[in-house]
Amino acid sequence: MKNRSISFSPPDISELEIQEVCETLRSGWITTGPRVKEFENRLAEYFHTNKVVCLNSATASEELILRLLGIGEGDEVLVPAYTYTSSASAAIHVGAVVKFIDSQLDSCEMDYDAMEAAITEKTKAIIPVDLGGIVCDYDRIFEAAEDKKNLFTASNNIQNAIGRVAIVADCAHAMGASRHGKMAGEIADFSAFSFHAVKNLTTAEGGAATWRNIPGLDDQAVYHQFQLYSLHGQSKDALAKTQLGSWEYDIVGPWYKCNMTDIMGAIGLRQLERYPQLLTRRKEIIGKYDAVCDKLGVKHLVHYGEDFQSSGHLYLARVPGISCEQRNEIITQMAKRGIACNVHYKPLPMMTAYKKYGWDIKDFPNAYHYFEEEITLPLHTKLSDEDVEYVTANFEDVVKKYL
Ligand SMILES: *Cc1c(COP(=O)(O)O)cnc(C)c1O
Repeated sequence: MKNRSISFSPPDISELEIQEVCETLRSGWITTGPRVKEFENRLAEYFHTNKVVCLNSATASEELILRLLGIGEGDEVLVPAYTYTSSASAAIHVGAVVKFIDSQLDSCEMDYDAMEAAITEKTKAIIPVDLGGIVCDYDRIFEAAEDKKNLFTASNNIQNAIGRVAIVADCAHAMGASRHGKMAGEIADFSAFSFHAVKNLTTAEGGAATWRNIPGLDDQAVYHQFQLYSLHGQSKDALAKTQLGSWEYDIVGPWYKCNMTDIMGAIGLRQLERYPQLLTRRKEIIGKYDAVCDKLGVKHLVHYGEDFQSSGHLYLARVPGISCEQRNEIITQMAKRGIACNVHYKPLPMMTAYKKYGWDIKDFPNAYHYFEEEITLPLHTKLSDEDVEYVTANFEDVVKKYL
């Protein structure tokens, strides 16, 4: 078979996005303005939520959600050990203590019994991660938070409206995913999405925060507080200041700078229009990968079922019984054939930053075992059918001697 070059996750940018960006540049308004507002409204329709706030990343979105919830020093936040660093680092930025939770056996989903057992009087939030684009078992997570309600004391009005530990979803992978007929975004109390260049829908960098319908929560007030946090605590944004004679503003807090620009909004608007087709294509590719893995006896995430639809973000495969060294050999051999594979994830307790906090991977045996056998295949919408065939044929050829 002739060698091909298959990258891991290149952005899928069409002429539509390019034109919209050019129009934005010519329009005279390039930072947060009409296109970001339009993108926010379209996203809220898509997520079935009342409001969306666009920001410059999922990490910033998660951080601002935690600030809005009044979470900080003295509080604890529960985070799966098996995720990307920003699920945990945002909690550290606000001054909270992160408590890592191991995975279920043979799964990359949190061990919900261990999660429930870890809830104390200090616990203020749980950060479930919809890994690979598959929505977590929020029924179980909400149940755990409800069961431990008696330990919870609210420290601001939003916490009070929620009335228990807040569920703040890391939906970086989950744009467009659903479970029990509900979209990622309308399930958890608050959700943070990523539009980073490798994600399903991209604005180059970018992210968004949204929240479900919470009785007693003033959506406009929450939206306004996000605006303040993300734009210096300035009482008027740049667009409002262009109104005739309306130069004067106040600074109500010494806050942050993480707003989305209209150039990013322009990319997002056009990506969103194309997004249903992109999801369909991901599903097709996953079907082909599943067929080969099932034939070989390679385990993989299950992205689609009767009552759930994944966003098909990542194809996590596991070769039973292999060691880390063998996994790395497979990745190297795939790379020699021009195919970029990856590992999702090296558990956070193995990373230098978290080891310094005293975490030890020995306490997370399930996360470690999953990591040992895990290989992520390239999954994106720039893959042609021939590319997909090339990946599956080579994967089969490389992996068969490890089975
Ligand atoms: C990409 C990613 C993030 C961070 O997204 P940014 O927009 O880059 O901040 C957070 N969590 C997970 C699981 C991710 O994969």
